[in-house]
Amino acid sequence: MSFIVAIDGPAGTGKGTVTKEIAKKLNLINIDTGSMYRCVTLACMQKGILPSQIDKIQEVLNDIEINLENKSCIQKVFLNGKDVSKEIRTPEVDALVAKFAAIKCVRDKLTPIQRKMGEENNVIMEGRDIGTVVFPNADVKIFLDCSVEERANRRYKQNLKKGIEESYEEVLSSIKERHKLETERKIAPFVKADDAILVDTTNMSIDEVISKIEEIIQNKRNNCSNVC
Ligand code: C5P
Repeated sequence: MSFIVAIDGPAGTGKGTVTKEIAKKLNLINIDTGSMYRCVTLACMQKGILPSQIDKIQEVLNDIEINLENKSCIQKVFLNGKDVSKEIRTPEVDALVAKFAAIKCVRDKLTPIQRKMGEENNVIMEGRDIGTVVFPNADVKIFLDCSVEERANRRYKQNLKKGIEESYEEVLSSIKERHKLETERKIAPFVKADDAILVDTTNMSIDEVISKIEEIIQNKRNNCSNVC
């Protein structure tokens, strides 16, 4: 049996950075499920397919191959054999991904793949529905939160470093819109699992968040006979 850490949280909470660091420290495989929804979105965008064209989306899903590769703690994302690690993180994908992620056939395709990944390895898996839908029996469940202004501020600064030109106001509005779609969708809405531990990162540094989550996982791991 594998050891599973579920980390759920909205965009801009530092989830990605935190999970990568913890995976390295605790020797867990880091799985970023958001990148898989981004791949489906990119694949559809490349073919000019809209979120309303369910039959065409299903065709894309029939052929899609998504691979996540972790080497020296750098995660690369491959869509049908091509490295799309940068392309999946543009404002254009940001603007559409929550619409594709709300579609039943998209979730029906990706959820079982994510479960399989977690069943085969000791993982730290991040997303929006990991503790509620993908692994409701995860060994550790963390729900990261943060004020929306601080999340937009962090994402704005990340974008600047990557050379992505988007104003703070645009980032804030995109994050708010995505959050609304994610929390209000019918399938796998983004909510905190009742038994998830809430960590509010608004006034915490990344290092403080890492230490806090590491402590929670270590405590749990020490009590778990599945992992030695
Ligand atoms: O985590 P990230 O912001 O990269 O996720 C991109 C999008 O994928 C989210 O806005 C959300 O709509 C969707 N997502 C999801 N369920 C997950 C992970 C991500 O619906 N488990």
